[in-house]
Amino acid sequence: MKIHQIYTYNYLRNFTYLLETNEGDFYCVDPWEAQEIMDKVPQGKLKAVINTHEHEDHTRGNADLVKMQGCEIWAHENAKGKIPGVTRFLSKGEKIILGGEWSIEVLDTPGHTFAHLCLLIKEGDKPHAVITGDTLFNAGVGNCYNGGDSGVLYETISSQFIDLPDEVLLYPGHEYLENNLKFTLDREPENTQALKLLEKVDKLNMDEDYFTTNLGLEKEVNAFLRLGEKSIREHLPISPSSDKEVFVSLRELRDKW
Ligand SMILES: [Zn+2]
Repeated sequence: MKIHQIYTYNYLRNFTYLLETNEGDFYCVDPWEAQEIMDKVPQGKLKAVINTHEHEDHTRGNADLVKMQGCEIWAHENAKGKIPGVTRFLSKGEKIILGGEWSIEVLDTPGHTFAHLCLLIKEGDKPHAVITGDTLFNAGVGNCYNGGDSGVLYETISSQFIDLPDEVLLYPGHEYLENNLKFTLDREPENTQALKLLEKVDKLNMDEDYFTTNLGLEKEVNAFLRLGEKSIREHLPISPSSDKEVFVSLRELRDKW
């Protein structure tokens, strides 16, 4: 099983993903440009498009891929009436078999929107990677001002992502790593791990090389996973009495940052 991360060169810096099974079948997550996918997938081998949520930048390639490949469209059960042409509605805990030992567990992850799912890719019982759409980004989290709620996003992240094993790879819906690291450093100037990673990322050609983080690294460089840190709590416009209040306040700061 291979995960292909495809950068889309659009102004929102979206990623599309292609999952290639050992049998040569493909699943496409959040297609931006259908032709780009067609160039990589043999005719008839695209089993399904899976949308993490209903926003246009994550569903734009759906119709053309159905036309060209005759594939199915799968999305969250709350996407009824929001994404045209869905052939299978997915719900929490559902398992998609990819062949061999590989499978996808569907996570119900409201917050960015209320029809948002993430895909936990597993080898046997062991989580290997997670495709997160606009829920958790490399060193950040999705915004909540387009049909979402930051308090709900906090609940999703604290209940479903914090406890994933450190080695699980994080594949988000957008490439915002550099900016997100700068936000973390603005809150925590002494965060040496974030500083080190920013230096590394600055050396990459961001149109060709992408740095893939894992959950272990995220816990060190993502301000939204470091809600108990003194430096973060002391530099908020509020005096927080809970981690949730810290998260919501950070998200408001990031909106204006
Ligand atoms: Zn979105």
